Amino acid sequence: MRQWQQHLQQLCDADMFRQLRVIDGEQTTHVQLNGEGVLMLCSNNYLGLANHPAMIEAALRATRDYGVGSTGSRLISGSMRLHARFEERMASFKQTEAALLFNSGYAANTGILSSLLGPNDLIFSDEYNHASIIDGCRLSAARTVVYPHADVAALESLMIAEVKDRKGRWLIVTDGVFSMDGDCAPLAELCRLKDRYDSLLMVDDAHGTGVLGENGRGSSEAQGCLTEIDLQMGTLGKGLGGSGAYLAASRTIVDTLINRCRPFIFSTSLPPAIPAAAIAALDIVESQEGADLRQRLKENCLLFTRLLITGGCDIGVTTTQIVPIMTRTPAATMAAAGQLLDRGLFVQGIRPPTVADGACRLRATLMATHDPYELKTAAEAICRVVTKVSV
Ligand SMILES: *Cc1c(COP(=O)(O)O)cnc(C)c1O
Repeated sequence: MRQWQQHLQQLCDADMFRQLRVIDGEQTTHVQLNGEGVLMLCSNNYLGLANHPAMIEAALRATRDYGVGSTGSRLISGSMRLHARFEERMASFKQTEAALLFNSGYAANTGILSSLLGPNDLIFSDEYNHASIIDGCRLSAARTVVYPHADVAALESLMIAEVKDRKGRWLIVTDGVFSMDGDCAPLAELCRLKDRYDSLLMVDDAHGTGVLGENGRGSSEAQGCLTEIDLQMGTLGKGLGGSGAYLAASRTIVDTLINRCRPFIFSTSLPPAIPAAAIAALDIVESQEGADLRQRLKENCLLFTRLLITGGCDIGVTTTQIVPIMTRTPAATMAAAGQLLDRGLFVQGIRPPTVADGACRLRATLMATHDPYELKTAAEAICRVVTKVSV
């Protein structure tokens, strides 16, 4: 106990202590945070679907029809018609042979990588990949070569260096949209590399699903290579406003996972309300309403990033709804987040180990449902606060 207390004290002294903040009320762009009304600028509810009436209705109806819990793992008693229907729907959305529902993105990435790859295999992983991919690589026991962020030429050199001693399977794995910087992986070029070197390509589209591409099919649709990605993983808890994750892939890969993937096999499946809501989310995403929401999100991103740049903020290389505002040190980051909260703006500060030392930042995330006028006021406040704490 003493050691843990000392460790926590060290975290506090270094502005590195993390604590939970509790939200009340409906999840619109305004929420109650510890009892105070704030503008939400750090939610992954990009399209505002988390409290969409059609989603709520689908979840309620599924709960009435099937009950609350799923009563077992997928291979025992926990595969309901709704789980199967969602998987068919997701496969057709992503134009793959099959799809599989997972309890979370974390469970999906650790499970997929560890069941498909082993000690003889080689994984090429972008240096900014999500923690769940990093943990999946470790669990797989495959050798992992980390390549410089989004650098296709550097990746190709690393692949060439491995060719002569090649043994097992090769897999390139990348986030579609990088969760801390908001930039996109060069998927079309990665597709060319994976063909040239007989490798598989896995894309984690947690932040692109529903949001990017003409029909919301994600980063790969936006870059014109939807059908070339071998393993299309994504989550249901962000743009789709629900919970859980999916993999869309060939029948062989999905059947392999059903037979080998430990987080899939040894865990109670998601409540029936979750796949029901996810089907409703895909219906919205593919409708005119979905296209309108994506358009509004895009306009909000343009407005907000333009104001931040004009106001002197360093927002890195973002091209999406994830907008980092660089603050460098933990102390500046936490001071800025605190001052913004005092002004009714809820933006999270991001510190190591989530980002590298010296790369601390505020991380704002935008929603289609944000009012442009409120975003303007927020951007101006952020610029004032960030320039002040940075000097
Ligand atoms: C959020 C996220 C995950 C984890 O998904 P959960 O469903 O929240 O467990 C995985 N990968 C990326 C890139 C993410 O942003």
